[in-house]
Amino acid sequence: VSLTEPIATGLAIPELPPDVRELKARAARFVREELHPIEDRIAADGDVEPGLYWELKRRAREAGFSNLNLPEEYGGRDLSMLGQVALEEEAGKATNGLGFIVADRGPRELLAMATPEQIERYVQPIVRGDATEAWAITEANAGSDHNAIAATAVRDGDEWVLTGDKWYVTGGDKASLYIVLARADREPTLFLVERGTPGLVVVREPRFMHDPYVYKHQELRLDDLRVPDAARVPSGGDAGAKVWFTTERLMIAARCCGSAERLIELATDWAKERVAFGRPIAEYQAIQFMLADSLTELLAARLMTYHAAHAFDAGADPKVAHGKTSMAKLYASEMAGRVADRVVQIFAGRGYMSDHPAERYYRELRVDRIWEGTSEIQRLIIARGLLKRGLAPYAS
Ligand SMILES: Cc1cc2nc3c(=O)[nH]c(=O)nc-3n(C[C@H](O)[C@H](O)[C@H](O)COP(=O)(O)OP(=O)(O)OC[C@H]3O[C@@H](n4cnc5c(N)ncnc54)[C@H](O)[C@@H]3O)c2cc1C
Repeated sequence: VSLTEPIATGLAIPELPPDVRELKARAARFVREELHPIEDRIAADGDVEPGLYWELKRRAREAGFSNLNLPEEYGGRDLSMLGQVALEEEAGKATNGLGFIVADRGPRELLAMATPEQIERYVQPIVRGDATEAWAITEANAGSDHNAIAATAVRDGDEWVLTGDKWYVTGGDKASLYIVLARADREPTLFLVERGTPGLVVVREPRFMHDPYVYKHQELRLDDLRVPDAARVPSGGDAGAKVWFTTERLMIAARCCGSAERLIELATDWAKERVAFGRPIAEYQAIQFMLADSLTELLAARLMTYHAAHAFDAGADPKVAHGKTSMAKLYASEMAGRVADRVVQIFAGRGYMSDHPAERYYRELRVDRIWEGTSEIQRLIIARGLLKRGLAPYAS
């Protein structure tokens, strides 16, 4: 059977293979047993304890959850996009960013872009689990419009001198490697910058709406930072960043689906339990309608997300798969925001307390409409695809 056949025949989503179903069930158990109790502790302490991340990452690795997306030669399982999405949904079922621990994807995009020497020096430590990476693309004056980046890289003999600023570098607090976008001879180019390189200055680690969170988002200054020519990623920087964005967008959609699923389950149980005016609130249509709308929208978002993932696996035109990913990210992130809002309403006063998952999701899901491209940028991508290629490739 040709891999592209399901799309050609209109079968938009294949069934999850048994090994992916088994993996998803194990991840769900890990999240429930290992991460949910920690969420309560973080809520009580108001902070993610130092060291907790690495300890949990070690446990997730032992349980077999890391690098599953990597090719087999790097010790991965070459998990399909559909498999990754199915796993990432489970990651969405933990708050405080703890889900990143179970969906510990390896640096596949980097492996595809880097030279063999760069892989050996910079990427292998990440694959081995000794290090993590952080992407430094955005700047104060270049967010949605990342073509506007002002950071420069100027050649000096065998070295490049990087100057500029980088904002919101997620995981910069833990990273051993920063993937930095700067203009070299006016071309956006990626550079691999090791932690501790002189001239890599952490300006601040601002607090965000989703704090306490496992990762900090650093503001960096590149202050005449020197790297060897061997640290320049040869393939086009802009294209490289776009590949990373696309995968991340799909994974955001998946996490939003997982979050909404957990929220709806919590609210359904509570609606059956909570009695007001002599009856469980689940018997009131006002509550039923909120649950019904949430469930309906969740299914729509899941179908879109799985479909977009399958488009990649089935070898669809990458531009079309990208457009479908934008639709999934746009719809799933906005759906999750609506669901969180309704679920806070169903829990009411309890849902407004910070030791309640509904309160945390209400704050934490907000960023999914912003990072890796805002909702407006996703709409632009979708509209441009429609205007250029017509409706058929996107609506089937
Ligand atoms: C918590 C967090 C973590 C992040 N992590 C990273 C990271 O690890 N690495 C990294 O490089 N970046 C990261 N980012 C940056 C993120 O990707 C950007 O914030 C995002 O792309 C939006 O850019 P901006 O905030 O500058 O908004 P702007 O681009 O200034 O947009 C402002 C508003 O204008 C709208 N807008 C802009 N252009 C258009 C247009 N053409 N048409 C219509 N509306 C438009 C936007 O949708 C938005 O509503 C992170 C951000 C956050 C908040």
